[in-house]
Amino acid sequence: MLSVSAMSRTSSTSMPNSTSAQNATRAISPECEFALTEPGAGSDTQALVTEYAPTSNDGELSLNGHKKWISCAQFADIFLVFGVLGQRSVACLVGRGTPGFSIEPIRELLGFRAAGLAELHFENVRVPAANMVGKPGFGLSHVAAARPNEVPLLRRRER
Ligand SMILES: Cc1cc2nc3c(=O)[nH]c(=O)nc-3n(C[C@H](O)[C@H](O)[C@H](O)COP(=O)(O)OP(=O)(O)OC[C@H]3O[C@@H](n4cnc5c(N)ncnc54)[C@H](O)[C@@H]3O)c2cc1C
Repeated sequence: MLSVSAMSRTSSTSMPNSTSAQNATRAISPECEFALTEPGAGSDTQALVTEYAPTSNDGELSLNGHKKWISCAQFADIFLVFGVLGQRSVACLVGRGTPGFSIEPIRELLGFRAAGLAELHFENVRVPAANMVGKPGFGLSHVAAARPNEVPLLRRRER
């Protein structure tokens, strides 16, 4: 089971698409899940087909694709979504509830029912370029090399 801790003192109002009615713990520590696996790709990032594309707005990317077997996706607030931008792999933060982003629970499992597994669907989802974690080509290594409290998942939102 893969997950990224997004511990942050970010307020709920500055989280992407978070609902203010959620409990205080989530406001202080939003749940962020690691979304790498796709129907045709596991740990092999070269096989990813989820795609980020430039838009006419320099500050935004367009995201299209499909993720599968994502832990706690039924409950998470934010997702670290891996994909390709041109020839390079990238990872960006995408908030639950962003237009074009839908979450499909995986039900009827023999086990892991409490894991909240789901598939993620992205259809022309607009993602701020500032939500990119690391540089193109280094998204996975950036996350793997960082200690949990050093991953700048949400810190940049505090500026
Ligand atoms: C309960 C559960 C929870 C999960 N939660 C998450 C989650 O939260 N987020 C998420 O993203 N995924 C999640 N997954 C998916 C899981 O991480 C993948 O199933 C896993 O990555 C296996 O992918 P794979 O089948 O490609 O096999 P892998 O184990 O990735 O690959 C199979 C073998 O091929 C090797 N290999 C990989 N790439 C290459 C290559 N290019 N060349 C040569 N050898 C290679 C690997 O080293 C490995 O030995 C979850 C799965 C389950 C069952």
